[in-house]
Amino acid sequence: LDPTNDNFSEQENNIEKALRPQLLQDFTGQPKLVENLQIFIQAAKRRGEALDHVLLHGPPGLGKTTLSLIIANELETEIKITSGPVLEKPGDLAGLLTNLEEGDVLFIDEIHRLNTVVEEYLYSAMEDYRIDIMLDTGPNARTIQIQLNPFTLVGATTRKGLLTAPMRARFGIDCLLDYYDLATLIKIIKRSAQILQVPITEDGANEIGRRSRGTPRIANALLRRVRDFAEIKGNGTIDATIAAYGLDALQVDSQGLDEMDNKILRVMIEHFKGGPVGLTTIATAVGEDAGTIEDVHEPYLIQQGYLKRTPRGRSVTYKAYQHLNLAAPGEEGELF
Ligand code: ATP
Repeated sequence: LDPTNDNFSEQENNIEKALRPQLLQDFTGQPKLVENLQIFIQAAKRRGEALDHVLLHGPPGLGKTTLSLIIANELETEIKITSGPVLEKPGDLAGLLTNLEEGDVLFIDEIHRLNTVVEEYLYSAMEDYRIDIMLDTGPNARTIQIQLNPFTLVGATTRKGLLTAPMRARFGIDCLLDYYDLATLIKIIKRSAQILQVPITEDGANEIGRRSRGTPRIANALLRRVRDFAEIKGNGTIDATIAAYGLDALQVDSQGLDEMDNKILRVMIEHFKGGPVGLTTIATAVGEDAGTIEDVHEPYLIQQGYLKRTPRGRSVTYKAYQHLNLAAPGEEGELF
């Protein structure tokens, strides 16, 4: 890949596409979710009905878009892709819905960002495959009803909590994507390496996996960058040494925490005695949006045991002090 080439992002996109699993059987990890989806898809196909609406939620980069493409693929139907903020007016939604063939998938990313008016139109579309379009205003106002082909809405969100209750209730299938464990990340990395035709050792995959923040998107991105180091600085094979060398050069944390994860922990320790401290206070102190901290950073830090939520706010754990090489309260040199 040559970043100075105009086609750089196109090349990146093509690689991204090649790495995406196409079928449920190629989707690594999330076994319960995959097993359930397999059954629901098979049942819908056998009955000749549209699959029930699916809500995919969880932190970014865990495979929501990939799964929605797989769902359409498995159903052998077409997929139309859009996102909450793009659908500004009911007309935008009506245009998409009326173009769906029977059984097609409509994927709405960031579905929590739909505006209320559009959302209300979506209710009847989801429930009765019908939309009422208002024509004109004032005394001439009238509504026409449009019958839609049965379709499957796949909604994705990092913030299920922001969805309204009626919206949530209209999804028959609810799928939570969770961070991937190391063994699964290693499998994903080895699969991607095979597609990219780059030799990789078990230890090399382990080194990248450990630093991928439980996230396949990060694992794939790190693999691609480490491949460059292996080709230029090594013998082309990714082993633990060249992986560690490349990842250190890229300043990827040894535990996979990113810059903001570390900043949050450091600020909490240095300015707030490790907590408890409120989310908005943390957000202001690190200069990041509170929602992003809550959706992107906090879940991983909690899952990995660096942070905990208490009724009085967030607190760091002993592991956070250790990770940042700072003395914990009660340890020598501290005034507790
Ligand atoms: P966002 O919502 O932020 O767009 P996402 O959850 O939709 O993120 P995807 O774009 O689907 O994430 O996935 C990111 C990348 O990770 C893709 O390139 C995909 O190939 C890869 N990936 C995700 N999940 C898996 C998996 N289970 N197995 C293999 N590769 C995966």
